[in-house]
Amino acid sequence: MKIEIKRVSLPSIVVISCASRLVRGEANLGDLKQIDFQFPKLEIAVTKTPFPEWLTAFTGLKEWPGLDPPYIPLDFINFEDIPDYKLYDQNNCHVNPRDSCSFDCHHCVEHDDIYTCSKLSQTFDDGPSPSTTKLLDHLKHNTTFFNLGINIVQNPDIYHRMQREGHLIGSHTWSHAYLPSISNEKIIAQIEWSIWAMNATGNHTPKWFRPPYGGIDNRVRAITRQFGLQAVLWDHDTFDWSLLLNSTLTTEEEILKNVATWKNSSTGLILEHDSTEKTVDLAIKINELIGNNQSSVSQCVGGIDYIKEYLP
Ligand SMILES: [Zn+2]
Repeated sequence: MKIEIKRVSLPSIVVISCASRLVRGEANLGDLKQIDFQFPKLEIAVTKTPFPEWLTAFTGLKEWPGLDPPYIPLDFINFEDIPDYKLYDQNNCHVNPRDSCSFDCHHCVEHDDIYTCSKLSQTFDDGPSPSTTKLLDHLKHNTTFFNLGINIVQNPDIYHRMQREGHLIGSHTWSHAYLPSISNEKIIAQIEWSIWAMNATGNHTPKWFRPPYGGIDNRVRAITRQFGLQAVLWDHDTFDWSLLLNSTLTTEEEILKNVATWKNSSTGLILEHDSTEKTVDLAIKINELIGNNQSSVSQCVGGIDYIKEYLP
């Protein structure tokens, strides 16, 4: 059995140093843009990571779940540590007091959130996808991918290649839920199934977590911390996904112009996506603009790559 998550004693959160360590505050990250577009489009086609026996023993199930994974109780989760903030839909930002510290509503970051890097570095969400391969062909430095569990079990070969080539992989939930809008149990389900997908495919347990849509407040943090996860946000958003729409939000030219400006300060974490060919093509152009002097998130803060790595 590779993981007995029910019984593990969780490590304390890695102590980090440098510019990414903050007291609670509202980061100056430019304009907040309201995002209604649901990205990425997800489906379960063929799952290729075998459903492990240890997971059947633990869950009673025999196959990977669909878009709404079932909640499996874990006895290390203490519900009393989860604050009672109200659930809210995306952009519905007036429901809770400011001390709920919502990143997507108010760019609020807590002391253990990472949102920047000492070297200007790209990060990639929503994979692995067939388009990830093209990006991997191009990359000549370590980078960070925040993967969806549902995509990992469908693309294990691409996941293994990311691992082999030295990239860092973090969790981006199971199926891209906007976490502030769902119950504590459903948040746990999104996290536990994403971790199990990584356990079963990559023989490791993630340390780094990026919430879909930047949707994190202190209710979500109180849950993800109990898994030993540390939130990774960003201070530079490309809005690359808007190129997939007939949107006036931004253009490729504007995005590349922004990157050139970000390069002047030489620090920061850039949000991009490796889930489509168009966003990957843009990522390659951005990579050529920034160059190879980039860090993975763990290198940015001098932290560990994974909570645990298992022998296959
Ligand atoms: Zn995402």
